[in-house]
Amino acid sequence: MNKIKGKGNRTPELFDPEISTAGRQRMRQLQLGALKQTLKHCYASNEFYRKRFDEAGVDPDRINELSDIEKLPFTTKEELRLNYPFGLFCTPLDEVVRVHSSSGTTGNPTVVGYTRHDLDIWGHCLMRIMYDTGVTKGDIVQISHGFGMFTGGFGFQYAAEKLGCLVVPISGGNTERQLKIMADFKSTVLCCTPSYTLHIAEVGEKIGVDFSKLSLKVGYLGAEPWSEPMRDEIERRIHMTALNSYGLSEVIGPGVSCECLEKNGLHINEDHFFAEVIDPDTGKTLPNGSKGELVFTSLTKRAFPVIRYRTKDISYLFEDDCPCGKKLLKMARPMGRTDDMLIIRGVNVFPSQIEEVLMKVKDLEPHYLIVLTTENYLDKIEVWVEVSDSIFHEKLMDLEFFEKSIEGRLYSAIGIHIKVSLKEPKTIARSEGKAQRVWDRRQEKN
Ligand code: ADP
Ligand code: ZN
Repeated sequence: MNKIKGKGNRTPELFDPEISTAGRQRMRQLQLGALKQTLKHCYASNEFYRKRFDEAGVDPDRINELSDIEKLPFTTKEELRLNYPFGLFCTPLDEVVRVHSSSGTTGNPTVVGYTRHDLDIWGHCLMRIMYDTGVTKGDIVQISHGFGMFTGGFGFQYAAEKLGCLVVPISGGNTERQLKIMADFKSTVLCCTPSYTLHIAEVGEKIGVDFSKLSLKVGYLGAEPWSEPMRDEIERRIHMTALNSYGLSEVIGPGVSCECLEKNGLHINEDHFFAEVIDPDTGKTLPNGSKGELVFTSLTKRAFPVIRYRTKDISYLFEDDCPCGKKLLKMARPMGRTDDMLIIRGVNVFPSQIEEVLMKVKDLEPHYLIVLTTENYLDKIEVWVEVSDSIFHEKLMDLEFFEKSIEGRLYSAIGIHIKVSLKEPKTIARSEGKAQRVWDRRQEKN
């Protein structure tokens, strides 16, 4: 099943393995130097940062160790919005060659900018990830992430081109065409969201595609939370190694971190992004191993550096002796965002925890929707999940028994009662990008 080739064709001029394998001490030195540069650059070029640093009493020339970063205030998404569109750019606009932007469903979108150097770094970060996981010249990289204002597609494109791969920038949607191209062009690499990958699998199976006969070997899947059993499902159905890739536009886009072939934590491209985990309530920096909110400081970007940017993503950091040889710090699979955390009768629940339980139940399809309502002023949580065709036609009583047994499994894993509603196959909306896992109906009038 693992069709990954060995690392042949090394292209040293494009590649700096010595940094990712250099070890903690060298990395810290490198980070400290880059942090000082970044802070000086922000201070010298941008009014917002100058005011910020002055208020916090931080002199960029007097940063002596990495932990001094804790003296600096956080940057939040709200502040990016308040400085819409270009207020936090740190180079003159004529040096900026690209902007990207987030969706902006709750106000001004956040706009991020890149100089030519920043685009180069972006490509470099993903190139290292792809190269280290077996992608080389000759690979055919199908990018099914959206292009456009969303950062998903471009980063992978730059990386793949730097490696000399053939890029297929198909973008999201038009699933049958995705499948045809995958087969005809013999795509070996897929860049996509996990939910859309699963949809591609489903449509492929329906029209008779035999994924074991395709050429796909590795997928870089991310842009949304997903669970370990979801990976198993994707690998089983698509016959490729599925790696978890993480990033966000404010920090650079995809390429902040990604799993190596060990699939045990995501190596952070630490020479470009300094990571911290904080307690989201107190803002206190937490030691490695403690779960909290990820905070990133960019170390090499010029147009849009971020200083202690609060991602709202929940994870923890850890160091290990990774058999892949990289010494880069790792982050655990992000569980979800503080925004998406549901608080039901005092218990914190992430959709990904529910997914993890559902995915392990035989005869359930990997398609679900969490529905929130209120009943007598109390929040009620229900999960709709599709059953496989084979059992949908069972007797009603058997299905009710099945629902109860899943409720029991959810209760023992999560500690609250979540009502389960089994749904007919193919009735829950499929995603062609980031999946919408929660339908919040609490504000709806009856
Ligand atoms: P937004 O979704 O805020 O418009 P982006 O498109 O830049 O912004 O998406 C970045 C966000 O997507 C991250 O902050 C995180 O919440 C989520 N994300 C990205 N990759 C992963 C991943 N591998 N696992 C979990 N969540 C992810
Ligand atoms: Zn590794």
